[in-house]
Amino acid sequence: MRAESLQFFKDIVNVPSPSGYEQKAAEIYRKYCSFADEVKTDSHGNTWAVLNPQAKMKIMLAGHMDEIGFIIHYIDDQGMLYFSTIGGHDSAIIVGQRVWVHGSKKLVGVIGRKAIHLLEEDERKKKPEVKDLWIDIGASTREEAEQLVSLGDVATYQWEFQEVLGDRAVARGFDNKMGSFIVAEALRLLKEDGGLDPGVGVYAVATVQEEIGLRGARTSAFEINPQSGLAVDVNHAVDYPGVSKSRYGQLDVGKGPSVMRGANASPVVFNMIKDGAAKEKIPYQVDVAPGGTGTDGNAMQISRSGMAVGILGVALRYMHTPCELLSITDVENCAKLMAAYCRQVKPDTDFTP
Ligand SMILES: [Zn+2]
Repeated sequence: MRAESLQFFKDIVNVPSPSGYEQKAAEIYRKYCSFADEVKTDSHGNTWAVLNPQAKMKIMLAGHMDEIGFIIHYIDDQGMLYFSTIGGHDSAIIVGQRVWVHGSKKLVGVIGRKAIHLLEEDERKKKPEVKDLWIDIGASTREEAEQLVSLGDVATYQWEFQEVLGDRAVARGFDNKMGSFIVAEALRLLKEDGGLDPGVGVYAVATVQEEIGLRGARTSAFEINPQSGLAVDVNHAVDYPGVSKSRYGQLDVGKGPSVMRGANASPVVFNMIKDGAAKEKIPYQVDVAPGGTGTDGNAMQISRSGMAVGILGVALRYMHTPCELLSITDVENCAKLMAAYCRQVKPDTDFTP
């Protein structure tokens, strides 16, 4: 991957952006997309960069920039912070993690639970519950904590972007800052390598609040009102121990981005993605979903009177943990595939299935 692109990828992954608190990620996104004809953030926080804004035929590219996290709802007399989860968490993974508490300054915190020696017999057998956990920032009193932390402040895992063997990397928040990276990168490829019909406008949107119900995709799709769109999100890799291919289908890290087939994808868009991949020799894997998916593509498809949607993914292991793992080459190929689709669209493309 090109050095400037990799730096942007790292920056947007590392910046904290739990749902509803995406402002810092939006700032990084706007800066990287300064090459576009237009860049804007709407009142919901969705941030988009556009090529050919005058065009009547519009394509929306969506990659959500929010991530899962924690929100502080109570501070006790000892200065312990009690939290609710933002997005889907496995409580077994939360225990013992170091977090950044984003108070009036960035504070180190640890997620505490009773030590194993102090757990009752039946507690040892059970999974911890979030209500029995707290964040300890080292404060001794409520007053001391309140000087730096306010109710409604958020926290995120401390784990940041690290490269592992091969072309693979681990981080918290690849889900789905990776998607915001991909839509921006696809737009840059269209700008620099060309091939986009001047009668086709492309709107690369870093959406907000996906993890809590696809909320930003809904508002931005309404505003942009495009004929077609591609959503990109992380997808479950089915290549590690204990996951059944016969139950979930095959999806391997490093074998190319995934292209979804099923009711949540327009057959016209699916075929155009395949044509684009063949033309530009981009590897991909087909992923099947029988109904609406948990991606922005779900909200987009049923926006207004309907949008012809395609859903791209990147195989990722350990979703919603502090150590999500993916292949950087898959991410790069996913951006290429998005750009390839956009080049297939013409001002008179008919999306009727
Ligand atoms: Zn997610």
